[in-house]
Amino acid sequence: MDKVAVTVFYVFALLCLAIAANQGILAALSLWGVGVTAYLYLHLIRQHQLLDWLKAPQNKTLPDASGHWASIFDELNGFIQRYQSQTSELSDSMSRFKNAVSVLPDGVVIFNQYQQVEWCNPAAETHLGLNLWRDQDQKLNAGVHHAEAVKYLEAERYDAPLKIKSKSNPNVDLELKVYTFGAQQKIMLSQDISQIQKLDAMRRDFIANVSHELRTPLTVVGGFLETLQDIPNAVSSQYLHHIALMEQQTQRMRHLVDDLLTLSRIESDSNVPENNEINMQGLLERVLSNAKGLSLGKHKITHDFAPNLCLIGAEDEIYSACSNLLNNAIRYTPEKGHIHVMWKATDAGATYSVMDTGIGIPKEHIGRLTERFYRVDKSRSRDTGGTGLGLSIVKHILMRHQAQLKVDSVEHEGSTFSILFPKARIKNR
Ligand code: ADP
Repeated sequence: MDKVAVTVFYVFALLCLAIAANQGILAALSLWGVGVTAYLYLHLIRQHQLLDWLKAPQNKTLPDASGHWASIFDELNGFIQRYQSQTSELSDSMSRFKNAVSVLPDGVVIFNQYQQVEWCNPAAETHLGLNLWRDQDQKLNAGVHHAEAVKYLEAERYDAPLKIKSKSNPNVDLELKVYTFGAQQKIMLSQDISQIQKLDAMRRDFIANVSHELRTPLTVVGGFLETLQDIPNAVSSQYLHHIALMEQQTQRMRHLVDDLLTLSRIESDSNVPENNEINMQGLLERVLSNAKGLSLGKHKITHDFAPNLCLIGAEDEIYSACSNLLNNAIRYTPEKGHIHVMWKATDAGATYSVMDTGIGIPKEHIGRLTERFYRVDKSRSRDTGGTGLGLSIVKHILMRHQAQLKVDSVEHEGSTFSILFPKARIKNR
């Protein structure tokens, strides 16, 4: 209680005592009753003012008061002011954030937990056919907005980005990514990748053109070298060794050019690969017999192929991927090593795997094996006729068939390279 209230209480109590002494207890009690009633009435008025203010605090100022009520009103006033300044700071940073994101060349769309548009920037409006004013708090609609983007958002499989054309300009290539945050909220980003695509196409064309141009001279040089070796006494015996080496290196360059051409063909082919029903048992037997030619009986090669388990895909590409893995196993397994090739059905689809007891691969290299020209041991790869492009080609073929490459390896013990094909590509005959 504040001092004034305490003083008033004591003065009033003394007054009541004086009246009790002079005019009797009844008169004093009546005065006490009047005093208490007035006190309660004052409290009721303050309570009413407080309730009235609480209903719409932003429209009214707090009433003036004294005593306890003054402290309550002061506290509330302080609280309101702090709240208002925090709200205004928050709304300032929100508008700063929106202004910053609005000038980004990338599109940004924020969705609430009901997949309704909460906010988007102008780039997203152009890319996806949105209009913030019209679409706020609405779900995306395939009839109005970018149909492929709507499908991608609804499918809820965001591990791989989606490549689409801009809704407003079909010459603009976009990459779409979606991230989930908070309580099932989502953020969709659209990035213009036309320039990157153009540069990538130029790089691929350049490699393809150079490889193509190199092919003819290499064939001519290789042919002459071969002929020189075949004609008796055409070259003096002291140079025969050099000619053989030259022919060997020409052969290597021809393999390199062939692999570069294969890679650029597969990379630039955005069409869906042919979907033929491949008799895998037959295909793998051809792969196996070709590999036995490479091994020249130096390895023990066993196999286990599930009969009647067919694959849907492009036969030449699948042949190339399977034979690449088996040829690698032969090249990186010392003589007398064991190689086991398997083709079997699994719960997820089917798996082709090649196990070897070869040199193995240190852990830190495994993640990089499919990069172009990445070799664990450059000289060994060259000695065995490798170009460093085999696994890159395999990776691209697998991507085109929605398959995955899995590598397990222990250095000096051996490796297992597996291709995991999805169920959608498997057919039982
Ligand atoms: P390369 O023509 O050099 O063999 P690849 O792309 O086929 O190129 O393979 C990349 C690298 O992966 C190889 O240089 C080799 O170091 C490693 N590698 C591939 N297969 C095996 C294997 N079965 N055992 C050990 N190392 C392997």
